[in-house]
Amino acid sequence: MYPNDRYKDWFRGQGLWAHVPEEDWKNWKWQLRNRITKVEQLEEYLDLTPEEKAGCYFANQKLALAITPYFFNLIDRNDPNCPIRRQVIPRGGEMKVSSEELLDPVGEEGTMPVEGLVHRYPDRVLFLVTDRCASYCRYCTRSRLVSNAQDYNFHAEFEQGLKYIESHPEVRDVLLSGGDPLLLSDHKLDYLLGRLRAIPHVEFIRIGSRIPVFLPQRITPELGEIFKKHGPIWMSIHVNHPRECTEELRQATERLAFSGVPLGNQSVLLKGVNDETEVMKALIHRLLMMRVRPYYLYQCDLITGSAHLRVDVRKGIEIIRQLRGHTTGYAIPQYVIDAPGGGGKVPINPDYVKEITESEIVMRNFAGEEYRYPLIPGKGSIQPADKPVGEPHEIMA
Ligand code: SF4
Repeated sequence: MYPNDRYKDWFRGQGLWAHVPEEDWKNWKWQLRNRITKVEQLEEYLDLTPEEKAGCYFANQKLALAITPYFFNLIDRNDPNCPIRRQVIPRGGEMKVSSEELLDPVGEEGTMPVEGLVHRYPDRVLFLVTDRCASYCRYCTRSRLVSNAQDYNFHAEFEQGLKYIESHPEVRDVLLSGGDPLLLSDHKLDYLLGRLRAIPHVEFIRIGSRIPVFLPQRITPELGEIFKKHGPIWMSIHVNHPRECTEELRQATERLAFSGVPLGNQSVLLKGVNDETEVMKALIHRLLMMRVRPYYLYQCDLITGSAHLRVDVRKGIEIIRQLRGHTTGYAIPQYVIDAPGGGGKVPINPDYVKEITESEIVMRNFAGEEYRYPLIPGKGSIQPADKPVGEPHEIMA
């Protein structure tokens, strides 16, 4: 069945739901109808820690609890510190609000000309088309509106949003997000993408979605046809831990790729989930094996009640330092901080530039060795300090 053993360790099958007919299991609507949304359901499957119990009783005031059966199978039920569990089962830490935390951490509310449409940069807009997701991530940047637990009462204003884009010729790039756009019906997605594609100045359409990860069954052949019809549609998925790379996700990304959808991944750096270099390396390698380019590694936004999941920025820099030059360049995501209050994404890199003098840049490579490069073309005669002229340099791919 598999061309080789490369994927043999990847999770597959129905796990705890082995008794369910395969037809139901593969039906995304069945998965949604059978989500775990109550603490009593959770307790049927695992022993909650006191910290988790406290979080669960608070959850519905902050961000709803919901986990698809498919994703629940990836939890190690005997490990309270399971990296999958930490992402979707609430913890008491969510109740503790630190002084630096914000309800709208990246300042979206002040730049919405129409409800759900964020227009911060001249040539691109963020179009929030729903407030619902298949499962809810406990560190969600849009906790304030997603799942409506905080009575935000979000209403996607499709027509107003589309009219705004139509009347703003400077908008060449539209990002559909939410909530999760792939929870919309095929009919609605077809309509929305068709309307966007009909706007002559819209060049680039992309979707941010965690559906392939929470609900790969949603990536049906019919959905693939919609993407083909309106393509190219780019997509950023959201995988945080190598264990989320399953056979079902692999098949979903293959379907997307074969429908002409270029795929990138956006991870969030999370304590106890992916804040070790070896875990991050395993994740990015698996992503490449699924045709997904690791795109961003986000420093967790300053969301209210997120301190227990946030990581020291220096740790993030160190992880990137331990990846760059030590594995495939394609595999390395750009580490970014979405500047609090609306400053946009700022790349955070290990310090490879030692200094820039009047005539040269002095750099350190991945191994810490020093190299120089002249600033002005035709005015330099600098050779790397420890390599004789003519010796071929290793190219870091
Ligand atoms: S899938 Fe995205 S929008 Fe939904 S809860 Fe997770 S991070 Fe938030």
